[in-house]
Formats: sequence, C-alpha cells, structure tokens
Amino acid sequence: MRRLSLLLLVCMASMLAFGQTESAVQPGDQSSINSGPPMLGIYWAKRVLPANGHRNPPNPDLIWRGGEIMPTASVHPIFWGTTWPTDNSDKVPGIDSFYSGFGGSGYAHASDEYTGTNGQVTSTVAYTGYTKDGTTASGGGNTAAILAEVCKVIGSGAVHNGFYPVYVDLPRGTAPYCGYHGAGTCNGVIVQFAFVWNLDGDVCGDPNDTSGRHSQGLASLANVSAHEFSEARTDPNNAGWRNSQGYENGDICGSPSPIPHPFVTFSNGSMWKLQAEWSNHAYDTGTGFPDSLGELGCIDN
Ligand SMILES: [Zn+2]
Repeated sequence: MRRLSLLLLVCMASMLAFGQTESAVQPGDQSSINSGPPMLGIYWAKRVLPANGHRNPPNPDLIWRGGEIMPTASVHPIFWGTTWPTDNSDKVPGIDSFYSGFGGSGYAHASDEYTGTNGQVTSTVAYTGYTKDGTTASGGGNTAAILAEVCKVIGSGAVHNGFYPVYVDLPRGTAPYCGYHGAGTCNGVIVQFAFVWNLDGDVCGDPNDTSGRHSQGLASLANVSAHEFSEARTDPNNAGWRNSQGYENGDICGSPSPIPHPFVTFSNGSMWKLQAEWSNHAYDTGTGFPDSLGELGCIDN
C-alpha cells in the first residue's frame, strides 16, 4: 500500500508538470474535488503550442521512465449512462468493431517499438466484448468514480493487462478535455482505464471523417480511443514512455497535426480515420509523417 501511495504522489506531481507544459488549460476540477488516480494522457480540446513554434529542449523523442509497458492488452469497453440501453446509434456497434479489429492491425503496430521492465509492446490485443451499464453516469472530473465504475463492472474479472475504457452518455460541456487514461486497482489488480465523453456535435477529437462510414460522434470516439489506448499501452502506469515535456505517444501527433491517411484498415476490415502516433524510430530516421511542428515522427502502421 505504501508503495502505491508513493506512486500516486509521483503521478500527481508529474501530472502538475504535465498540465503546465501541455496546455494552458487544465481540468478545473482535477485538483479540487478529484481524490482518485491522476488523469494521464489527456486529449485536450484545445492544444496550446509553444509560442515560438519550437520545442525546448528540441528533441521530442519519448524517454523511458523505468517502468512497465503493456506487452499485450485485453479490452472491455463499458458504456455507462441511462441512455445506452436504448441507444440505437452506430456508436456501440462501432466501438465494438473498433476494438474487435484493433489487435494485429498496422495501427496497433505503430506503438510496438517501446519496451519496459516486463517486455515489449506487441500488437496482441484481445477483445472480450462490452458491457452496458444503464445507471446514471458521472462526468470525467472525478477519476475515482470512473475507476469505481470499472471495478463494479469488471469485478473479479480484472486482469493486469486489462484496458477498460468508459464511454459515458454525457456531453463534455465546458470540460477542457475529450478524454484521458489512467491506472488504478480493482480487486487487488492494477488495471488501465480510460474515460471519454459523448462527443456528438463536439469538435473535441473530431477527425473530420466525411466518408459516411461513421457518424461524427462515433468517428470522434474512435479517434480519442486510438489516442488513449496507444498511450495506455506505452505508458500504462506513468512510468513508461513520455518525452521531456510530458507528452505521451498519442499527444505529439494529435490535433492539430494533420491526419496522414484518409483511413487506416483494422484486422477485421473496419476502416477508421485516426490520428497518427509518435515513433522515436521514425523521428530518428526521418521517415514519419510531420507533426504540427514539422517533426517527422508520426506513423500509423
Ligand atoms: Zn494524450
């Protein structure tokens, strides 16, 4: 328990530094009412770039912080809120398809170069289906409430390589973020979770998918999910990979970076318009797509 408390303190401290460097806006309720795990890898609604257009220090590469990565993952999404049981939009079947096809995809492979104390990230991602919980959802401000929801639904089924994203039916309102990922303990097991608002009619995380394949709300959920899941796989307990400014692999190539390909194709044939992910290898060899600062470290397969 003592080690966990220390980890939490370290996480909170780095979250403060992270918030300051990543953006001028911070979740207003993070420090005041949130007593839960820190929000990691926040997908901000508006990302503030350095005023001079350059990073300081200039090397954007991610640095290993000495801890674990996720060599494999087992995903179980939770749709939380009173409207999900009767929701007939494309969002639940769409997210179901997204995680069904993520494992073994080129997009999953884009995060595979990173290693940790427990091995290397691989594209092996199992999908165990989803759960709808029709009780009233909380917003994202209290991460402890999100973790409690995950533990309630997953219970004794919690596994250490579990990734449990929570999709609520609530609009973002004035919250400055579309979603985040975090870590916590369920049933004695450290697990990864994420939180994503309902992004219908919201610019937050919207990849501007005009193909007609997905509703705007689903396309945004998928894009934010790709960001958070990639970050959880490479920086699960805030001791994996992030750069000197606190950015994880999903952050550097996220909005407002250009999205390189019209679509990426998953292993089940589903197609998605997704942001790219940061690759140290691509940057070091000059072979990636440019991020919004022209740094060639973004890849999507
Ligand atoms: Zn992020």
